Amino acid sequence: MISYLFFHLPNNRILYIKIISRPYVVDSLLQWTIDLLDTNIVAQNSHKKILLDPHRKQQSDFVFVSHAHTDHLYSKKDGYLTSVTLASKETSRIARERGYSLGDIVHEHPGFELLNSGHILGSKGLVIDDEVYYTGDLSTRSRSFMQPAVLPQIETLIIESTFGRPEYVFPAIAELVHSANKLISDCYNRGSPVVLMGYQLGKAQLLTELFRHWEPMYVYDSIDRINCVYRDLGVDLKQASSFQEAECAGKIKKGIPWILISPLTHGRSKFIRNLKIKYDAITIGFSGWAVNSRYKYMMGLDYAFPMSDHCDFTELLAAVNKCKPKKIYTFHGFAREFATILVNRGFEAYPLERNTNTKKAYSNPIENSRLDSYL
Ligand SMILES: [Zn+2]
Ligand SMILES: [Zn+2]
Repeated sequence: MISYLFFHLPNNRILYIKIISRPYVVDSLLQWTIDLLDTNIVAQNSHKKILLDPHRKQQSDFVFVSHAHTDHLYSKKDGYLTSVTLASKETSRIARERGYSLGDIVHEHPGFELLNSGHILGSKGLVIDDEVYYTGDLSTRSRSFMQPAVLPQIETLIIESTFGRPEYVFPAIAELVHSANKLISDCYNRGSPVVLMGYQLGKAQLLTELFRHWEPMYVYDSIDRINCVYRDLGVDLKQASSFQEAECAGKIKKGIPWILISPLTHGRSKFIRNLKIKYDAITIGFSGWAVNSRYKYMMGLDYAFPMSDHCDFTELLAAVNKCKPKKIYTFHGFAREFATILVNRGFEAYPLERNTNTKKAYSNPIENSRLDSYL
C-alpha cells in the first residue's frame, strides 16, 4: 500500500513523503503454517491445505505422497479425499504393486516442485510455493543406482530425523561393501551360503545390485516382484532366480554356497531357522540401526552392517545447513532430540510428533531410553 504525507514549507514549497507500507494483512493470509492434525503433517495457508504423506483420511486441496513405503501410505482400497494427489510415477507404480491405490496422480502442478529425495526409487521431496520444503525420507549419499537428494534453499524446512542423534554416523558405502564381500568370501570358502537381509523395498534392490558379482544369487519371492518393477522402471537390476522356485526344483544343495537376498526378519523366524538347519546359512543384516552393537543380537543375526537409505546424523546437519532455513520442523525417529540439537545450534526448530499431536520448541536433554523402541 502506498500513501503520501504533505508538508507546507516556507516559500510556498510542499514536501511530499511517499510511504510504502508492507501489506501485513495479505502476508498473514499467505503465511504457511505447519502442524499435526489428526496425526497428519499438514501445510496450510488461507488458500491451500496440503497433507504430507497422510496416515488418516482428511479433506484437503492436495495430498503429497513422497514414496511407496507403507508408513507413508494410508489405505489399500480408499482413494485420498482430495482433488489433486502429487507423487512420482515410480511411487504410483510401486504402490500399486503393493496393493495401494494413489488414484489419479499428477507429477507437477503450479506452485509445487517435486525434487529427488534419494531414499528409494521414485522418492521425492515437495517444494511448496518456493517457501516450504518437505523432505519425506531423505538420503544425500550416492548408493549404486541411487542418486543423492536435491536440496533447495528454503524458508521453512520439514525434515525427517530418523537418525537424528550424534552416534548414528554410517561408514562409506564402499567400506561397507568391502567388509561384507570379505565376509561372504570367507563363508564361500567354508561352503556356507549367505543370506543378505534388508527391507524389501529399497534396500533389497540395492543389495541385489551391490553384490551382483556373487553367483548363484537367489531372491525371496516378494523381493523378486519388486525387483521386476524396478526393472520395468528402467533400473538395470541383476536377474536373480526365485529362491522358492530353485528350492522346489531341487537346485539348492547343502555344502554348495549361494547368496540369497531376503527381507529383514528376525533370525529366529521359521524361514531363517530352516535355512540354518538345512544349509548352515549365515545371516547378514543391513540397517542404519546396526550402528548399535546390540542390534544384531536383538534381531538374532550373525552379522549386521550399518547401511541405510536415510541420512545419518552428519548428513542431516549438512542438509539443514544447505537449505539455510529460518524455521525447521523435524519428524520421524529422534524428532525431539534432533530439534533440540538444532535449537542449540541457533536454529528455530520444532519436533512434529505424531503421538503427542502437538508441536513445541524443545530443549530437554536427550533421553537414552528412547533408543530401544526403534530397534
Ligand atoms: Zn521410507
Ligand atoms: Zn519413513
